Amino acid sequence: MIIHPLSQLKRLSLTILEFFLPRLCLFCGAAVGEKARMAVCPECEGKIQWAASPRCLCCGKVFASREGEDRMCGSCQQEPPPFRQARAAAVYDGPPAEAIKRLKFNRQLAYLPVMQEWLKPLALVMAEQADLIMPVPLHPRRLKSRGFNQALLLAQGLTALPLARDTLIRVRHTRPQVELSPKERRENVKGAFAVSRPERVKGKRVLLVDDLFTTGATARECARALQKAGAVQVDILTVARTKQD
Ligand SMILES: [Zn+2]
Ligand SMILES: [Zn+2]
Repeated sequence: MIIHPLSQLKRLSLTILEFFLPRLCLFCGAAVGEKARMAVCPECEGKIQWAASPRCLCCGKVFASREGEDRMCGSCQQEPPPFRQARAAAVYDGPPAEAIKRLKFNRQLAYLPVMQEWLKPLALVMAEQADLIMPVPLHPRRLKSRGFNQALLLAQGLTALPLARDTLIRVRHTRPQVELSPKERRENVKGAFAVSRPERVKGKRVLLVDDLFTTGATARECARALQKAGAVQVDILTVARTKQD
């Protein structure tokens, strides 16, 4: 199952509503004008902290000190992740944090095109070095309760790469990571992913999409499963990543 039919219907009715209503900023309600690229006012856009350099070459961690070049962070040097690089558009704060929460927990699909717009510049660059795009999967039980996989919605139409659905799958239901400590997060997702059709990823460079990168436990576990199935490279793309230190 990809998208719950009801969600598609909701999305359609939102689009129709947006067509007739004056365009308002999704974050503060200010009018943004007919010609605005997206429903975000300049003031709210100004509150976004883009995940800019200097950052870790590997995990994308944004360094607290704004001096210096991109480099490997301490934890990636100590324990190199199984993915090649993880990149996020923004720091998880302000409008991006609001958008992620409202889409995921309040099913406000109007935030989806805004998040895709934020992702696009990175996605275009990363797609040049990938063969396939795929979402971090949800367990069928969570998919049923939420009605949609936000990662799949984000990945759809984001790049020209073939979208591999139902290829990386969750084989175990896990507790929401948000409740857990970093150590518990690693334990929680251990062995939670598998590749249903290894022939699809064998020898391929995979671009994996999710809404949020926190400790990277999920991204690492997904990358391990993909590599086990023969993927030669895994890159991670998320809308946001949590602030570090
Ligand atoms: Zn605003
Ligand atoms: Zn790092």
